[in-house]
Amino acid sequence: MSKNIGRRSMLRSMLATTAGLGVARYVDYLPFSALKAAQSEKLEKPKLRFGVVTDSHSANYKRGGSRRYTESLMKMTECVEVMDDHEDVEFLIELGDFIDGHSPTPPDCLEKIEDVFTGFNGPHYHVLGNHCHDDFSKEQFLGHIKNTGFDSAAGHYSVDHGGIHFVVLDANYRGDGEPYDSGNFNWTDANIPEAQVDWLRNDLNNAELPAIIFIHQCLDGSGSHYVENAAEVRKVLEEYGKTLTVFQGHNHSGAYRRIEGIHYYTLKAMVVGSGEENNSYALVEVNPEYIAVKGYRRAVGREMEIKGIPEPV
Ligand SMILES: [Zn+2]
Repeated sequence: MSKNIGRRSMLRSMLATTAGLGVARYVDYLPFSALKAAQSEKLEKPKLRFGVVTDSHSANYKRGGSRRYTESLMKMTECVEVMDDHEDVEFLIELGDFIDGHSPTPPDCLEKIEDVFTGFNGPHYHVLGNHCHDDFSKEQFLGHIKNTGFDSAAGHYSVDHGGIHFVVLDANYRGDGEPYDSGNFNWTDANIPEAQVDWLRNDLNNAELPAIIFIHQCLDGSGSHYVENAAEVRKVLEEYGKTLTVFQGHNHSGAYRRIEGIHYYTLKAMVVGSGEENNSYALVEVNPEYIAVKGYRRAVGREMEIKGIPEPV
């Protein structure tokens, strides 16, 4: 037995213990849905599976409060290993605040967590968060990361996988249109500039597939954790009738809301709490009539009904 397999089976039994009955390794708060998901795993193959994680805030310093910056390398390692354990995970995406700022050696910190994250055996994608710009300009941060299939990383982009159109948005712009750059911003002043809203409109208009959106700051309301022009962006998503779900980070407690038929799922932050039991990441299954979020550790499981995905002709 190789060292690697030994570590994985240890991880597997550890997770099974955490989940309690051993029916499934994920935590699911909806009655019957764990059983339903376990059955569906056997009976019908989901159309698509992908992994999602957010707010790792990886840094080489300790600070008070509930955030454990140095533990995110360990927590991300577990996330990548669990995703690799499932052979059919199409890709892994992180939803921003990948690192935390004010560290003595930020490029080194970014390289370390990027090394762990890109160790996933499949395509991997990034979403930009406010803390990604604590010590970096957009260009500097993007220069240190890779999004599979792209020559150079970008803040907003779209990519198709398994019959779904995935759109990544970047709200790390001030109200005056200036991009976030090395702490030149107030974190509550998050905006999607008009040029990007136009790009989104055009992208969704041309999309021939149902869409799933990824963004760091939240779109499903108003207040400090929300994008200032969230209502305008939601209108665009609603207008084309193609958006199934929006996955968000930033609000470390996690949340869920449904507006005009679109699900807004906010994943809990990886950085909060000490120890492997306080990790958070999820496996998302897109099925023809529902999207199932299988939350690992503290991440919340949820099933989100969708109108149905037409089979390609
Ligand atoms: Zn954030």
